[in-house]
Amino acid sequence: MSDFERASGQTTLEILQTHWNYNRFRPLQQETIACILNQQDSLTLLPTGGGKSLCYQLPILMMPGKTAVVVSPLIALMEDQVQQAKSKGIKAVALNSAQPLEIRREIFEAFQAGEVQLLYVSPERFTSMAFVQSLQNSGRIAYFAVDEAHCLSQWGHQFRPDYQLLGQLKTWFPEIGIHAFTATAPKVVADEIGTMLNLVNPTVLKSSLYRANLYLGVVQRPSKKTEFQELLVTELLGRKGQAGIIYCFSRLQVEEWAKLLQANGIKAKGYHAGMTTGIRQKNQQAFMSGAIDVMVATVAFGMGIDRGDIRFVMHTHAPRSIEHYLQEVGRAGRDGNPSDCLLYYATRDFTTWESMLKKDERGETFQRSLEKLWQMQLFSEGADCRHNVLAQHFGMPLPTSNCHGCDACHRYPQAEPNSVLLAQQVLSAVWRTGALATRSTVVSLLLGDAALLPQAQAAQLQSLPIFGLLKDSSSRKTLQLAVEQLIALGLLVPTLGVEGGLTMTGDGQVVLRAFQQAKTAEGLPLQVQQQLATIKLYASTVGDYHRDGAGEGGMGSNTHGAGEKPRPERLILPTMGIPKPVKKKKRRTYAYQD
Ligand SMILES: [Zn+2]
Repeated sequence: MSDFERASGQTTLEILQTHWNYNRFRPLQQETIACILNQQDSLTLLPTGGGKSLCYQLPILMMPGKTAVVVSPLIALMEDQVQQAKSKGIKAVALNSAQPLEIRREIFEAFQAGEVQLLYVSPERFTSMAFVQSLQNSGRIAYFAVDEAHCLSQWGHQFRPDYQLLGQLKTWFPEIGIHAFTATAPKVVADEIGTMLNLVNPTVLKSSLYRANLYLGVVQRPSKKTEFQELLVTELLGRKGQAGIIYCFSRLQVEEWAKLLQANGIKAKGYHAGMTTGIRQKNQQAFMSGAIDVMVATVAFGMGIDRGDIRFVMHTHAPRSIEHYLQEVGRAGRDGNPSDCLLYYATRDFTTWESMLKKDERGETFQRSLEKLWQMQLFSEGADCRHNVLAQHFGMPLPTSNCHGCDACHRYPQAEPNSVLLAQQVLSAVWRTGALATRSTVVSLLLGDAALLPQAQAAQLQSLPIFGLLKDSSSRKTLQLAVEQLIALGLLVPTLGVEGGLTMTGDGQVVLRAFQQAKTAEGLPLQVQQQLATIKLYASTVGDYHRDGAGEGGMGSNTHGAGEKPRPERLILPTMGIPKPVKKKKRRTYAYQD
């Protein structure tokens, strides 16, 4: 029993039971609370929905007369949290610049009088030295909790310059513990948070990000718009009554999709930052209360969303980073029941993102964003277990060799016996086509399909010795998969800025050169042989990108899978009311992303 437990006469578990009505803590909550009670600086990484806020709300109940200061990035989020804390019997208030001076004064007086247990503030409060001094003079501060701490990191995906002010907390309040919280973050971000906040020997608490109830499926989006619309509507009709979020690339697409779904009998509404606050709140409320099933949204939707039974999250476009992807899919299945996360992407999503980033960002920031984009592309186009790739990205232990919870484990169960030879042939085609190498050209070249080669260079390409090399022994599908695999293995990379473009990496060149010298796989040096033994290419896929048996069970289906599927009689296209894109209007810096 800690000093605080003795003083308050209650254990942390008893407080959990009385105020939250839970019988046990979730992973890392108790450890974090212990750090707070012991004034030991800490950084806790909990996946979205892992119960972060409880960690900093509970301890203050054991410290009568004291106040915990919680730094939170968004006013809307703060208000939600204040309501939630109040519902647990905690005296919580938010102090923000949107409030009239009079209200702020009242809040401050309550704080001075010791009537505030949790004081939520935005980071820019700390630009005011008067504010800092009154906190110092009060002598009431128990600890600081910095929520959404990834906003501190330039490597984070939501960097906010005003969060950097928090670096001075340790100077202003050297005796007081600082506790940072974030959803799962890559190691580089976690390290940067600790450094930026000047945490003293912080205890870093990380939970596994692997959530076995989430099925992760990734698939190329049909290139024809109507085909994709039909696919997604079919998918949703198979999930009628289930709650889900559809993430779109732009505000315009949100409007379009919401109209399309409504026209096809799906209870859906839209959400994006271009709507008035009133409409946004109304639509969010409709989703939270279960009045509608599907929220069609930009990335603006999600922070602070607390609906446990979200059964699916779908992306109509690739997000701009793995961090965004994880945060968005993390909103599915918080009740622990099976939930599906399907990402529909096209290679051109990445070139679109790249040109948008180019417009908005410069120098190092641009390079970082580009790198994140590239990692997202590798994730999407690779054929490795999705859960494993995520774990690796965030420096977590790999969950398992076959997770049974992603399309890659589901679709690519068996390797081709001649994987190594196939790898060599594809690499060699990329090498010989050089700057002309694209997925389509490389595959068409190996299959001897002259009609699909770029016209201007068709004659030149047809004269290559590898033209038609695999005409009789392979198929387009197999070779397309082989290309994806070689990308995942790091022997090829997509050429950013060229749709479908392929470039050979240094590793790819080493492997190819070894082949050229040895002629056969057996003649290769042992070291190269060992490296190649890891190459497993897949000739065919089994089933599709859905959860096992999902096609038959009515959990959803698609045009790629066989079997019965609840198709719409006819796709109903809404005829009116879709706003035209606003042309020539200067975009606000982040207009496209929320
Ligand atoms: Zn897997």
